[in-house]
Amino acid sequence: MRIDLHTHSNESDGTETPLELLDSAIKAGLDLFALTDHDSIAGWHQIKDKAPASIEIALGAEVSCQTLEALSVHMLGYLFNPDDKALIDSMNETRTNRITRMERIVARLQEAGMDITVDDVYAETIEGATVGRPHLADAMIRKGIVADRSEAFETYLHNRSKYYIPDASPTPEAAITLIKNAGGVAIIAHPFASLRGRIISAQYLESLIGAGLDGIEINHRDHNDGEREELSHLAKRYGLLVTGGSDYHGTGKVNRLGENLTDLSQWEKIKERAGSLK
Ligand code: AMP
Ligand code: FE
Ligand code: FE
Ligand code: ZN
Repeated sequence: MRIDLHTHSNESDGTETPLELLDSAIKAGLDLFALTDHDSIAGWHQIKDKAPASIEIALGAEVSCQTLEALSVHMLGYLFNPDDKALIDSMNETRTNRITRMERIVARLQEAGMDITVDDVYAETIEGATVGRPHLADAMIRKGIVADRSEAFETYLHNRSKYYIPDASPTPEAAITLIKNAGGVAIIAHPFASLRGRIISAQYLESLIGAGLDGIEINHRDHNDGEREELSHLAKRYGLLVTGGSDYHGTGKVNRLGENLTDLSQWEKIKERAGSLK
């Protein structure tokens, strides 16, 4: 079974529509994929009844979180009740906060003399999408300021940049509680991906296990061998689920669908844990 539990559509910062993503997943030979847009399940609603018999689509979301130290954490939620008001309201609030945040980032870039407006950024999104730095990168590409998203991130948008502002979002502990109260399973996304900037400590990760964390996404392109090893030890010690996914963003990133996968045994445990809500 080829199971990819981490993908994005243009309902957040991926470049393909949910239907195009489904088509790409079929072509990539996946048996199952989870659509895990940032702070949105709009894409899942569009394709949940559209899958042919050869492939399964799982409900997911990558919930943006911020620690009390303002570190960015991404919490993957799977198989939660899609109508859970608290979780959906929280994601809606984060999406709204991301708009204010984008206005502030753009204002900083304008102050530095860059010819860019928030309307340039919105022109790169579809109505209702979760707005993020990748859309700002796309606006910079269109204006000829950078060649691609990577250059935009390396030059202006990375987490250590003076233009960076974190998004106002729940703490990881709150996100775990929201996901689990909605009957879902909470897996922390790429926790030790150090190339993205400052990362959480192993000690903090252990504290999240106390807060109900179900598992760790280990098989991810942004984890090196050492990081994978350390995370595997933690997962074993605490009996955590282990997952993997491509973090596919269409043409927005080099990540290919299915490049990292989740073992069937782990997926079955996720389904068991999500119980009747699957
Ligand atoms: P934001 O959600 O606004 O904080 O932006 C974070 C998103 O930017 C991540 O989810 C990635 O999809 C994307 N991202 C981060 N670094 C890069 C990069 N070097 N190239 C392309 N996309 C990136
Ligand atoms: Fe993303
Ligand atoms: Fe992420
Ligand atoms: Zn992602």
